[in-house]
This record gives sequence, C-alpha cells and structure tokens, in this order.
Amino acid sequence: MWKKWNSLNLSVQIIICVIIGFLIGVFAGEELSVLSPLGDMFIKAIQMMVILIIVPSIVSGFCSVDNPAQLGKTGVKIIAVFAFMYVLAATVAIVLVNLFKPGVGMQIVIPEGYTYEPVSQTFLQLLSSIVPKNPVQAFADGNLLQILFVSVLLACCTTLIKDKVPAVVTFFDQLNSVIMKMLSAIMRVSPYAAGLLMAIAIGVNGPAILGDLAIFILIMYVGQFLLAFCNVLVVGAAGMNMVAYFRRVLEPAIIAFTTRSSLAALPANIECVTDLGVPRGIGTFGVTIGNTINMGGTSFYQAVCVVFIAQAYGIEMSLTQQIIVALSAAVLCVSLVGIPGGGLASLGVLLAGAGLPPEGVGLIIAVDAIVDMPRTLNNVFGDASATIIASKLDGLIAADSPLLRRKYKK
Ligand code: ASP
Repeated sequence: MWKKWNSLNLSVQIIICVIIGFLIGVFAGEELSVLSPLGDMFIKAIQMMVILIIVPSIVSGFCSVDNPAQLGKTGVKIIAVFAFMYVLAATVAIVLVNLFKPGVGMQIVIPEGYTYEPVSQTFLQLLSSIVPKNPVQAFADGNLLQILFVSVLLACCTTLIKDKVPAVVTFFDQLNSVIMKMLSAIMRVSPYAAGLLMAIAIGVNGPAILGDLAIFILIMYVGQFLLAFCNVLVVGAAGMNMVAYFRRVLEPAIIAFTTRSSLAALPANIECVTDLGVPRGIGTFGVTIGNTINMGGTSFYQAVCVVFIAQAYGIEMSLTQQIIVALSAAVLCVSLVGIPGGGLASLGVLLAGAGLPPEGVGLIIAVDAIVDMPRTLNNVFGDASATIIASKLDGLIAADSPLLRRKYKK
C-alpha cells in the first residue's frame, strides 16, 4: 500500500490528503486549531525557500538564455497578460455580484472590538520602494520586488560578462541544483501538510460557511474557479495542451489553496513553469514578478467585497462606480504581498475610496480565511499561465514540452 502511495504523482497525493483533511475538519471542528503550529512549520519552510531560490535561479536562468534582450521582450508580454487577467477578473466580479446580489437584505453586525487600520501606498511610492537601500535588509524582510530588483541586476551584469566569470556562473548553476533538491525534499511532505492545513481551515472556519454569508462565499468560489478555468482556456487558445497545463499547475495551486499564501506556492510554481518548458530565467522572473504584481484572484475578491458591503449597508452603487472600484482594486493589488489575508488588509482603502465605511471590512472578516483559499489558488494560476502564454508567443517553450503535444501523455 505504501509503495503504491509513493508511486502516485505528487498532485494526486495532495488532492487525496486535502479531501481527507476536509473530512477530518468537518468532524473534528475547532479543536484542530491546536495543530496550527505544525501547519505553520510547513508554510515557513516553503517561504524560506522563496528567499533561497530567487537569486541562483534567476542568475543561472538568465545566463543560460542566449539573447538577454529576449527577457525584456517576453517580460512586457507577461505584464500585458497580467493586465488582461485583471480586466477579466473585474468583469466577472461585476457580473456575478450584480446577478446574485449577496448583500441585499443582510442583517450582519460588525464583530465587536474590530477597528479599521488603513494600509495604502501611491504608485510612485511603490515604484521607488523597488530599489532597496540595503540588499541584505531586502532579503531579511523578504521584500519580493526588492529581491527581484537585486537579482535581475545581478543576473543581467553576470550575463553581460559571463565569459569572463565562468566560476560565478557555475557557482549559481550548482547552487541552484542544490536548492532545487532542498525544495523537492520539503515538497515530499506537502501532501500531509496540505491535508493538515485543510483540516484546520475547515475545522476552525467551517460553521461560518453555513451562516448568512453562504451566497457571498459561493460567489467567491464560483467566480475564482471560473477565472482559473479561463486561464486554462487562454492557454488552450494560445495553442497549447490545456490538460498538460492543468495537471502540472495543480500542484502549486493546491499548495496556494491550503496555505493561503501565493508566496509559499512560489517555489513550486517556478518548478511548474520550468517543467512545462519555459526557460528557467524567464519562468522564475515571470512567476516571481507575478507573485506581487499579478493578483487577479485578489482583485476579483476585493471588487465583489466592496459591492457586497455596499449592498449590505443598503447603499446603491452605479455601474460606473463599480467599474472604477474593480479597476482600482487591480491597481491596489500591484503592491500586495502573497500572504494569508494580504488582500483583506487593503480592502478598507478601497471602501473609503468608494465612499463606504471602511469598518465594512468587519462584515466579512469571519469568513476571510475560507474565501482566501480560492483567491490565492487563482493568483497562482494567473502567474503560471501569463508566463507560459508570453513564452509561447515568443517561441520559447522547449520543443519537448508536454504543452506542445497535441494529446496529453503522462
Ligand atoms: N492570500 C493571497 C495570496 O497569497 C493574498 C490575499 O489575501 O488576497 O495571494
């Protein structure tokens, strides 16, 4: 039995454990929260890998690309796909929230003791914050955009003189292999960790699903899964094998779903796109930058939340106002970090911008963990598909990639 289990592919193991975790969560209930430190251990271990993985992966990846200008060209395309996904997320959000009107007639009270703490940043502040004063600090703080800035600069300069510094290139190449080995060792426990995290999430938050917010939660799940499915369709429309993409992206996506952190799923997502034939430098760059600036799932969630809260307060929002909110959500998401509840923290800014009471955030706080799961999954889908699509448009996908096979073969 153990042998058979070990022969299963990691995504299948994860799915099985998540289903078992779900059932345990339903039956065991809130008591499971005592196991949270164990779940946190796994999340911390994969977050630790994020910091280790980016520099060697980007430097060795960039050095292996023959034409460095290609990175800029493909990078622009990746960002264009991100923008398209934001528009898609905004459209689906507005359609669903107006169709189902989850907040109309609600009688929910804001939890006692809840106070609103604003979080905001202008675009120029964001831009200037990309350059770190101290790179060591950037790594210590885990500031992804700053880490990416340092890594790309280092990688570009190494690439420019790679013939003169073969030892540096070899060092990063070999370091990259060691770190990938570490990652795969940690990922061996991911099915059990994912199952445990699922059990805790359902055990602790489960009863809220049955409450007044059921339709709101349903819209979140339907919308996010629909958007994830759109990602698969767009990969298909770009002439690639949708089944191959879907099967491979499931692994980082389920890690994202259960950890509620797209940052934690980043190493697995880098592996996913490189396995699917995207050159390592471009794959690492695409999904890492996407991890912070591309959060289609979160922008969908925020747009739905704002209109939902307006409905719950009995405030009418015009279609134009809703569109402005949805697009502002996209802009706001550019500076968010892929951690659990990252999107909730900045929701108050959007509410205030829309002239709604920021305390409205309190209406959904009880179920935020439950709706964080599908939005994080969707964020990860978006990063992977944009990187893959842009690479395909530039003809960079490896010839033996399963994405280029007409029929899916294991
Ligand atoms: N949990 C999300 C992520 O990690 C961020 C959010 O709260 O929306 O991508």
